[in-house]
Amino acid sequence: MLLRYRYRIYPTRPQRTALARAFGCARVVFNDAVAARKHAYTQGLPYPTQAVLSKALITEAKRTAERAWLGEVSSVVLQQALADADRAYKNFFASLSGKRSGPRMGPPRFKRRTGTQTVRFTRNAHFKVLDNDRLRLPKIGEVKVAWSRRLPAEPSSVTVIKTPTGKYYASFVVAVDGGTDLAEPIAYHEAETGIDLGLKDFAVLRGGKTIASPKFFRRMKRKLKKAQRALSRKQRGSKNRAKARLKVAKIHERIKVSRSDWVNKQVHRIVAENQGIYVEDLHVRGLGQGRAAKSVHDAALGMFLARLESKAHRAGRTFARVDRFFPSTRLCSACGALTGPKGLDGLRTRRWACGCGVVHDRDANAEINIRREGQRLASLAAGHTE
Ligand SMILES: [Zn+2]
Repeated sequence: MLLRYRYRIYPTRPQRTALARAFGCARVVFNDAVAARKHAYTQGLPYPTQAVLSKALITEAKRTAERAWLGEVSSVVLQQALADADRAYKNFFASLSGKRSGPRMGPPRFKRRTGTQTVRFTRNAHFKVLDNDRLRLPKIGEVKVAWSRRLPAEPSSVTVIKTPTGKYYASFVVAVDGGTDLAEPIAYHEAETGIDLGLKDFAVLRGGKTIASPKFFRRMKRKLKKAQRALSRKQRGSKNRAKARLKVAKIHERIKVSRSDWVNKQVHRIVAENQGIYVEDLHVRGLGQGRAAKSVHDAALGMFLARLESKAHRAGRTFARVDRFFPSTRLCSACGALTGPKGLDGLRTRRWACGCGVVHDRDANAEINIRREGQRLASLAAGHTE
């Protein structure tokens, strides 16, 4: 299993200059690759392969006056930028054809100077964690790292990131054996929960236990909207616009950090307390930049599901996603009739009575149904027949 380990890094001024050059070159190669593929598409030509683009956009481009400066950075950085563009296209095609689950993806977009900047180094580029705890990067130097925890094994690649607010990080990919965090199994039968995800409550667990949607979701959403409006009123190219953009970026960063902390806390608790975890497979919408204000909650949902699944697997828990068309809300958990609330009206119904005489709390009933369906799917997957 591949895990990411991320640390803050503190490049010196000359290292920041060298990194800026690498970021710029990687961005240009990525954008040239996107442009070449857009061009091929509009001309009805076949998809240019990575090898073809490598020759045209790196090897040959370096010999031209406009792109000669590509030679100033490590060539692995340029190759990785091409690989990133290629992967973005392959994901997009897979998403179009339905081979990739999750939200529909748009085609790759041009990278902007004002966005998050990244460069990736693979092992064959001789990046190295040195004995003096510094990270050596080709054509950059030995960079100081704040090691908040140890790397569990030799990393296979490192991505250097610069956020729009000017912070630098190193994100290492490390291959580890499955089950590194294997937790003590929980034996008793009640330690299984369905998870009903919603808007009012973030999630409802077994026994009607709720995880409230944090207040900062709404607060940050308001702040972000205000800052984005202010930014849109500033004149292009002005100093005030740059300031307003930094403000927006800082809010994004704060949202990201608090959301991530909050999600980790919830995931940790659920995995610690449950041996079986069953969740609705929501179709979490894509997270376009412009729509960010709308999607603080959606982004948290997507992150929650992904981390829950990964942590549950690592801890050796049983985990299953229940199809999103499974009628968890409509099904009466007592008699199995489809008598529950449906449609938009149903969203307002908190309690309902089934013809069989049982009165349900909507979300608690949904949790029971999700749990049972999840248990059924998990036992099927485990090869048991009922
Ligand atoms: Zn009933």
